[in-house]
Amino acid sequence: MNKTIDELVINYHVTEVCNYSCKFCYAKWDRPNEIHANGQDAELMLEKLANYFFDDNTNHVKAVFPYKSVRINFAGGEPLILKKRFAKLIIKTKSLGFNLSLITNGHYLTDSFINNYGAMFSMIGISFDSQSLIARKNIGRIDRKDESFGRHDLIKAVAQLRNVNPSIIIKVNTVVNSLNYQESFEQLITKIKPEKWKVFRCCQY
Ligand code: SF4
Repeated sequence: MNKTIDELVINYHVTEVCNYSCKFCYAKWDRPNEIHANGQDAELMLEKLANYFFDDNTNHVKAVFPYKSVRINFAGGEPLILKKRFAKLIIKTKSLGFNLSLITNGHYLTDSFINNYGAMFSMIGISFDSQSLIARKNIGRIDRKDESFGRHDLIKAVAQLRNVNPSIIIKVNTVVNSLNYQESFEQLITKIKPEKWKVFRCCQY
């Protein structure tokens, strides 16, 4: 038997819809029939996952890769664009006994979302590619109203998340590309001190 791991992570790409349109985005699957849009199907799927992954008798994964807990990692597209629908999934997932994490572009990390749900997450990863509005615009990190999640928004959201949830793990994801490769993130990263800063290299843009 393999060594017991603390946490098994299941990625749930809940939607491919996003308010941004980054030029290097890979989250495009031709608009499949997303489970969350079919009545209670997403909740039922989560129940099935809980039944399987929390049942020691029938669980072949745990027999080979023992784990102590299971985390559902919501990703997209942008999960928070689903608003109330996503809030229901958060509550359901938590009530089933999963740990929760989220990958987001930060745009909808509003005061009310953080105050209501921030304490339920063990980790939130925020994609952030540039402190320059022009660079973010050119990357595609801007919505139809010309609004974009910027440096101050990031600092504020991280501070508020830590305020409601002091043990939360903050991750920043940065895609290095031709528009930001000369930019220094030193001050920003020093200021917000994320537990992880994941830096990706974009090879085609
Ligand atoms: S924010 Fe993320 S999901 Fe949205 S377009 Fe950019 S890379 Fe894709």
